[in-house]
Amino acid sequence: MIGLISATAAGAAARDRLAAAWPDRTRVYEGPVADAVRRAFGECSQLVCFLATGAVVRLVAPLLSDKASDPGVVCVDEGGRFAVSLVGGHGGGANELARAVGRLLGAEPVVTTATDAVGVPGLDTLGLPVEGDVAGVSRALLDGEPVALELESTWPLPALPSHVLPSRAGSAVPGDGPTIRVTDRLIDTGGTGEVVLRPPSLVVGVGASKGAPVDEVLGLVEGALAEAGLSVASVAALATVDAKADEPGIVGAAERLGVPVVTYSADELAGVEVPNPSAAPLAAVGTPSVAEAAALVGGGELLVPKRKSARADGAPAMATCAVVRRPGRGRLAVVGLGPGARDLLTPRAEAELRRASVLVGLDQYVDQIRDLLRPGTRILESGLGAEEERARTAVAEARKGQAVALIGSGDAGVYAMASPALAEASDDIDVVGVPGVTAALAAGAILGAPLGHDHVSISLSDLHTPWHVIERRVRAAAEADIVVTFYNPRSRGRDWQLPKALAILGAHREPTTPVGVVRNASRPDESSRVTTLAGLDPTTVDMMTVVTVGNTATRNIAGRMVTPRGYRWQETAQ
Ligand code: SAH
Repeated sequence: MIGLISATAAGAAARDRLAAAWPDRTRVYEGPVADAVRRAFGECSQLVCFLATGAVVRLVAPLLSDKASDPGVVCVDEGGRFAVSLVGGHGGGANELARAVGRLLGAEPVVTTATDAVGVPGLDTLGLPVEGDVAGVSRALLDGEPVALELESTWPLPALPSHVLPSRAGSAVPGDGPTIRVTDRLIDTGGTGEVVLRPPSLVVGVGASKGAPVDEVLGLVEGALAEAGLSVASVAALATVDAKADEPGIVGAAERLGVPVVTYSADELAGVEVPNPSAAPLAAVGTPSVAEAAALVGGGELLVPKRKSARADGAPAMATCAVVRRPGRGRLAVVGLGPGARDLLTPRAEAELRRASVLVGLDQYVDQIRDLLRPGTRILESGLGAEEERARTAVAEARKGQAVALIGSGDAGVYAMASPALAEASDDIDVVGVPGVTAALAAGAILGAPLGHDHVSISLSDLHTPWHVIERRVRAAAEADIVVTFYNPRSRGRDWQLPKALAILGAHREPTTPVGVVRNASRPDESSRVTTLAGLDPTTVDMMTVVTVGNTATRNIAGRMVTPRGYRWQETAQ
């Protein structure tokens, strides 16, 4: 919950805008400000104060205790010009909140946390639980001191500054100097100079008889991990057989650990080779192993073979567990950058670009977003045409365990890199797709509403597709009266395809059918016009352009291209 506090009428107006925008996330605190701040501080995870920073500093100072648990506090000035992240920048989420409040109120977010300000990733923003001397290692990162990186588990980290030096697993001794260690092992960080990042590398397989108590399951799991020297913070999931998906002991233990329960069919588990099969689960649920098999389904190394719970009363054990370390997985994000303008790049695309340690893309697209990358991101750019090679490179880097972003303009899945990349990819990497605003949509918004009814995109490039196939598709769209957007419509070496395609459509549509032409949608030299099938001069079209041809119902209304919705026109046409 976000507590909102204001003192004046201007502050209250801005406060009410936030409250209206986030009705379920905010609570307004009325009354004397000092008292309101105190109450909100105790009850909320975040505060937005429409007060001077000085006033807020005085009010919250006596309330602050620990940066891990204190709420994040954002101040917005009376004029609504700035949203200042005051305390709890990372842990309290105040930096993010300042940005969100800034977007909503049109205020400039002010973020002074050092790691955010200079583009060095805050250790607590790497997406992994972090333990140890966060303040000390962050300081070393900021000061440019050498920091050792010990990657015991393969985990696709974002780019780290160049003074973070990977060393071979186990070679650095704690205390040698600032160290970032990525491991699921329990280790003594020795007080200062070392942080441990916990990758979600462990899967705990569990079996439980009906009615097994939560404490028995949880005690067994925690005991097994502790004895094997493994951290609970690295547990990614509890795994079991479908029949036990709702077993309260397992569900409750997962909840207490804060991890999901994943389940597999008995058949699938029966097919997994395990060291300790037994007759009891075979009779009960149809597989000779639940705990070991469920932990091992996705592959990996069995660190703790099946063990049973111990019961104080000496009664038979009701739970079993086994622990597996999953093989490290790289990450391939296929990211659409949108048509060109920065504000048509989605926040998710931006987050993925900052999440990457390796960026693969066409040089002109890399230029479009270079400023968004974290310093230290490895950039593998290539020129036009090297598509297959880019796809292979991206997948190969991901398979090495890297966090890779493969970029494309518009949507990366539309006549772009997603399909060649995924044709190369195997199931040993995680793939994340981020949609982008494709040229047809960017152009549609400029032209009016040309895509109000059924529409297709057709690429006129016959480099990858034989012309007779393209022609057959254009004809089908013509016969079915579908709105058509042509991508790759015309280039220096390909000048007859567009006139030919327009002629095919012209056989089924009036010469007055509206046609929209948009060049460089959302880029600085954007241009567009609405003309007609008869009026379009194909020589004015190039590779920076899309051409959208209306259907028989599309009209030019006040200079805008509008295709009516609904199917009523079909009846009148028949
Ligand atoms: N993945 C891209 C399309 C790549 S094919 C997307 O989803 O938009 C390249 C063709 O897309 C170009 O020849 C042009 O026809 C079209 N295109 C891409 N960006 C454009 C833009 N900003 N304005 C107009 N057309 C564009």
